[in-house]
Amino acid sequence: MSKSDLQCSFCGKKKDQTKLLIAGIDAHICEVCIEQANGIIIQENSAEDSNVNQTSEQKLIKPQQIKLFLDDYVIGQDYTKKIIAVSVYNHYKRISQQVENEIEIEKSNIIMVGQTGTGKTLIAKTIAKMLDVPLAIVDATVLTEAGYVGEDVEGILTKLLQSANYNVEKAEKGIVFIDEIDKIARKSDNPSITRDVSGEGVQQALLKLLEGTIVNVPPKGGRKHPDQKFIEVNTENILFIAGGAFDGIDRHISRRLNLNVIGYKSAENNPILSKNILKYINPKDLKEYGLIPEIIGRLPVVTYMEPLDKNTLLNILTKPKNALIKQYVKLFEFDGIKLEFNKSALDFIVDKAVDYGLGARGLRSLCEEVLNDAMFNLPGSETKKLVVTKKYASEQIARINLKKLKAAS
Ligand code: ADP
Repeated sequence: MSKSDLQCSFCGKKKDQTKLLIAGIDAHICEVCIEQANGIIIQENSAEDSNVNQTSEQKLIKPQQIKLFLDDYVIGQDYTKKIIAVSVYNHYKRISQQVENEIEIEKSNIIMVGQTGTGKTLIAKTIAKMLDVPLAIVDATVLTEAGYVGEDVEGILTKLLQSANYNVEKAEKGIVFIDEIDKIARKSDNPSITRDVSGEGVQQALLKLLEGTIVNVPPKGGRKHPDQKFIEVNTENILFIAGGAFDGIDRHISRRLNLNVIGYKSAENNPILSKNILKYINPKDLKEYGLIPEIIGRLPVVTYMEPLDKNTLLNILTKPKNALIKQYVKLFEFDGIKLEFNKSALDFIVDKAVDYGLGARGLRSLCEEVLNDAMFNLPGSETKKLVVTKKYASEQIARINLKKLKAAS
């Protein structure tokens, strides 16, 4: 083929009709077609961008919907679920309307006070799942001030980055759950004149993150990789949720409310004390407990968890979308085995969980103890059905405890 026979493979123009004809492997393209193609690319990209905006707007789920979603996974705790639904909604509303505005909506970081195993972590997890945002769960007890043995607070953001697959933009809209925040309370009666490594210093360090600032985050965390490059993360739009048991805070609350907690009788007769006194918690009590005022100011939404009574524990076993019992039924189903629990067996497990005093956390280990034997022996056997009765459950637990005792002696 002579040079003059060459033509644009897209519009068919001959070489001499074009200013430019670029050769590919088997084809040619003229300058007009390049420009047209470029136009198409720009159009497609902007359509994609507007889709992205649309989905982030769609994500603005209303508080009532948030609460409904939480209801599927978290039993009870209605008050906290409502409070959290509203503050999560406000938080994401604030993020989605970040145009220069005279009225700057402040962040609504949350602090949840309540016994262990009552669902604080579960609520944070469920919110993150619903919003499809990355979540980092950290334990405040391992945090230390920079320079001390332990984890720097920046490590929190490393975890968030990892959970966001190192997508900084995603991480910057994520959720951080700080568990056991009560363990870094200032001990006011600490006679030491040296720096308070585990308490106030960490609170000060945390404050920086809560306030909203740009932090240099080591992508792999820790101080083991001194030459790693830092990633800048802006914490301004990260939602922080803190949780803690705050053992003994009831004393501060009742003192503030001017109630007499000394003596069992008075507590029993007192309509406030006989209920969950955490209901009356306010920021002042947190300050008395040893959180510094600046931290309290950055966790403006204070809420409490209800202790779990037997009925709630029973519901936790069976009702949530991924309830423990449903999970075990599914596990057995894989082996073609039908698993059922008698009501008396469920009651028995709940009673034991109350004895353990671990809130709902004890339920899982109890179910494991009850079913471990069956999960080992039944797959591949002739048995195609297992009905767990109170007798079966108590025998299994007694057997396992006996084994443990023997192993310990
Ligand atoms: P916390 O953070 O308050 O110590 P978690 O949220 O970690 O407690 O709960 C421990 C376990 O108990 C979780 O596996 C969770 O599934 C279950 N659980 C606790 N509270 C509830 C609840 N209110 N509804 C459903 N499950 C719960």
